[in-house]
Amino acid sequence: MMATTHAFAGMALALPVLATAPEFAPAAFVAGLVGGLVPDLDLYAGHRKTLHYPVYAPIAAVLAVAMALLAPSTATVALAVGLAAAALHAVTDVAGGGLELRPWLAGSERAVYSHYHGRWIRPRRWIRYDGAPEDLALAGFVAAPLIAAGDGPIGTVTIALLGVSTVYVLLRKPLATVAERLAGLVPPPLHPYLPERYRGA
Ligand SMILES: [Zn+2]
Repeated sequence: MMATTHAFAGMALALPVLATAPEFAPAAFVAGLVGGLVPDLDLYAGHRKTLHYPVYAPIAAVLAVAMALLAPSTATVALAVGLAAAALHAVTDVAGGGLELRPWLAGSERAVYSHYHGRWIRPRRWIRYDGAPEDLALAGFVAAPLIAAGDGPIGTVTIALLGVSTVYVLLRKPLATVAERLAGLVPPPLHPYLPERYRGA
């Protein structure tokens, strides 16, 4: 799924905080946004493995949520929402496509790495690939309550990210070719630093 879909899902986890303890909501929304995005920072170093923990992150999130309920503060609520967002990201990556340059070709059996199982989990492809039309539909569905509930910066950020998502979806397939051409221009000594899916380019 797109980074923005993950970001919206992470921010949506702050909606219960807004409803029950609005004084912590600003920190919760920021934590949800960051937690939803952070796992994909491993894009250039062991993508969907280094920062994706589909088993351990949910366990950590449950503990953090329990701590936030027992001792609510800006720090504990932010930690709980942030960890829950990162956990949701890792788990929902299984629903998308595999780890490959053109995931719509459905040639990869690697969705996300489970450190607990010591192996890759296969992609379910309910969302065929990141940037697919159904990915945008899901992003819009998750973003709608954020736009409705979040007056001020939350609504504005969400609408802006939806705009970015729409452009990405329109350009998704040509972008793969552009990325491949750019990867082809990289001097051989730097090839080890390219994401694996570009190395054959
Ligand atoms: Zn991811």
